[in-house]
Amino acid sequence: AAFGWVVLRQLRERIAIERALHQAHQTLKSLALTDSLTGLGNRRRLDAVFEAELKRAHRQGYPVALVMLDLDYFKLYNDRYGHPAGDQCLRRFAELLQQALKRPADLAVRYGGEEFTMLLPDTDAAGAELVVDEVMQLLRRQAIPHAGSPLGVVSASAGIAVGHPAQDGCTPESLMAAADAALYQAKRQGRDGYTVAAALAESGG
Ligand code: GH3
Ligand code: MG
Ligand code: MG
Repeated sequence: AAFGWVVLRQLRERIAIERALHQAHQTLKSLALTDSLTGLGNRRRLDAVFEAELKRAHRQGYPVALVMLDLDYFKLYNDRYGHPAGDQCLRRFAELLQQALKRPADLAVRYGGEEFTMLLPDTDAAGAELVVDEVMQLLRRQAIPHAGSPLGVVSASAGIAVGHPAQDGCTPESLMAAADAALYQAKRQGRDGYTVAAALAESGG
């Protein structure tokens, strides 16, 4: 009986250790996919699902929208108000993105620096524009003072790209490139707005 008890105790300990290890791995995994400043996912998080979302969209025949957002004159904001205030601003912006997203499959990540990305499955250009409008309205309502901007408040610019994987063979790279080009178009047009990329080419890429 004593022998059985020892074996049982060792077994229980091993199970507990395995469980703790599994937990630690899960934590590490989610940390590696999380942006520590804002709590949003990071670029790796986007990379982890992008391909799969396009495959699903291909199978089910729906479009996927990708939105790149970038805060305007943000270097000037840091210069004027300091880095901690800049960080606070990034956190607030991240919250607005979360507020604007309504569907469970929608994903907002901090791509890096003051750049954010939203991946919106089963969403066409009109739908993506609604989401971006909502983000911009929420940001205007915050009215975060920014004396270094011509607008006097913090604003953002955005670029929208929509792919139809079943029709245009778009890839994560082609969608990113198109959204990025649309973002820079919005910057050139004076910031505090968005543009929509032209439909992706037949061949994709
Ligand atoms: P534009 O309107 O063209 O986007 O100009 P910009 O100044 O926003 O763009 P630029 O790329 O010149 O500068 C980005 C700035 O974002 C640089 C840096 O001061 C700030 N930034 C990037 N990452 C962080 C961060 O983690 N925290 C803070 N506080 N600032 C950051
Ligand atoms: Mg930038
Ligand atoms: Mg910027």
